[in-house]
Amino acid sequence: MKILSITLTARGAELARRLPWEHEHGALASTIRSRWADVDGFVVFAATGVAVRVVGPLLGDKDHDPAVVCVDEGGRWVVALCGGHSGGANDLANHVAALLGAEAVVTTATDSTGLPALDTIHGCHAVGDIAGVTTALLDGSPVWIDNRANWPLPAPLEARLGSVGADGPDIDAPGIVVTDESVAPHTSLVVIHPPSLIVGVGASTGAPAADLRQLVDGALGDAGLSALSVASIATLDRKRAEPAIVALADAWQVPIVDAPAEVLASVAVPTPSDVVRNAVGTPSVAEAAALTVGGPGAELLVPKRASATATVAVARRPVPRGHLSIVGIGPGGPQHRTPAATAAIRHADFVIGYGPYLDLAADAIAASAMVTRSPIGEETTRTKQALTEAAGGHRVALVCSGDAGVFALATLALELATEHPSLDPIGQIEIVPGVTAALAAASVLGAPLAHDHAAISLSDLLTPWPIIERRLRAAAESDLVVSLYNPRSAGRPWQLAAALAILGAHRPGLTPVGLVTNAGRADERAVVTTIGALDPEDVGMSTCVIVGASSTRVVGGRMVTPRGYER
Ligand code: SAH
Repeated sequence: MKILSITLTARGAELARRLPWEHEHGALASTIRSRWADVDGFVVFAATGVAVRVVGPLLGDKDHDPAVVCVDEGGRWVVALCGGHSGGANDLANHVAALLGAEAVVTTATDSTGLPALDTIHGCHAVGDIAGVTTALLDGSPVWIDNRANWPLPAPLEARLGSVGADGPDIDAPGIVVTDESVAPHTSLVVIHPPSLIVGVGASTGAPAADLRQLVDGALGDAGLSALSVASIATLDRKRAEPAIVALADAWQVPIVDAPAEVLASVAVPTPSDVVRNAVGTPSVAEAAALTVGGPGAELLVPKRASATATVAVARRPVPRGHLSIVGIGPGGPQHRTPAATAAIRHADFVIGYGPYLDLAADAIAASAMVTRSPIGEETTRTKQALTEAAGGHRVALVCSGDAGVFALATLALELATEHPSLDPIGQIEIVPGVTAALAAASVLGAPLAHDHAAISLSDLLTPWPIIERRLRAAAESDLVVSLYNPRSAGRPWQLAAALAILGAHRPGLTPVGLVTNAGRADERAVVTTIGALDPEDVGMSTCVIVGASSTRVVGGRMVTPRGYER
């Protein structure tokens, strides 16, 4: 997303500098006019009236207009002015509000009621009377649904819909059809096309793009299938850069997924060919690729069709391929969260995590997402639930603090994933990194990790204490700076003193130690002390303790470990 902040006052400019985007000061109206077609969103630090006057004449249609949000002079409110859904103004308003510590004002009806907008259901394309059916949903009028594709829909939407009785739908009442087939438009009807079709293609070298296009359009049209349901184009690995195939993927805005000849050769297909086998090493490209990418249970809807230069076949996959992101949100709020982490949460329809971490990521959670606040200590249950939902076809974000793989759930998820053979651990499970506590704490203290360092968790709930002790001794003997995670809790009161005694045996009692509690959060607290003088009362469950090496010093009140540049 290319976002531009525009300010008129010094206070506005100060607020805009807390946002990560391009910023222009002054000339508000002319800047908005000249950049209208060039950016995805504007953050306008001015009254809504000013913005409305400037933006009004520029508005075209909601699928192409940029998002516009307004921030008041006091930095208290962030109003999503227009481009709420398609333009992303609601998301932008939530994000800006979180970064500024302001309140987002979102007025699109579906978001304020927790109903997902019909045109934003993940991976689906909605066409038809979206405004009319949405109004009926909001008014509480009956809306029928005919989910012919059996596609999982967001739970809040499912809960609002009445299913179709034995006599079929009342086509004059507002309704929704979920299908990958083409359906004639009708008043008060929305058709949701799920991403269920895989179009397998083969093409000879230099095949004309128009020839392939005509072949696939004919195959879909004759079978009554909608191109809006095409999830991906499948082909042989050697063909993925073939210009006709690339042109088709560009036209439909879908990915090309490829497989090697050995894999395609192992798929049973109705129309194998020796000629093809001799040419490319597999008796089928289009059919085999469509079925392979469609995954287990895929059904061939259109067997191979060929033109002089290309082949096509269409498969339907049974359920969406689920996806699990194990997301590290960093130490605190959105200013230290990566854009990739925000995106992974925003596009999840299931968000699971320890409650306080979900609060820190609240601005990124879609209004329509199912949210499970899981208690502390229930890491295994939480991870299993995340995997089950992903295997069931949902997009899941499992939210961790700091980094997803540092004393967090990524390992457990990858280990337990073996219990779900239908989940591909490489294609469907993603680890999204975050700023780990030690890095966040170090930056608050100064630069204590500038030389070699180690991170050690003092939690002996999962690791036996003698092993922790051995690692502490090794770190002590090698004079590493040590970040201590999980240093102290009500149930583990003595481990910190024991660890400091081990480290203190190899470095002077005046060695600096930094304690940072709630780094990056509103109630952040930092103390710089020494190994000898540390008061355990300054350390809690959300403290990261950084013990300096023998060379670590306090310079101008900040903790530094020299790297050697100064010599
Ligand atoms: N995955 C997390 C670590 C989880 S273990 C990460 O990469 O940061 C939990 C421990 O991390 C806490 O006991 C504390 O020592 C540390 N921690 C997590 N968040 C912190 C924060 N905001 N400030 C200071 N320490 C934090």
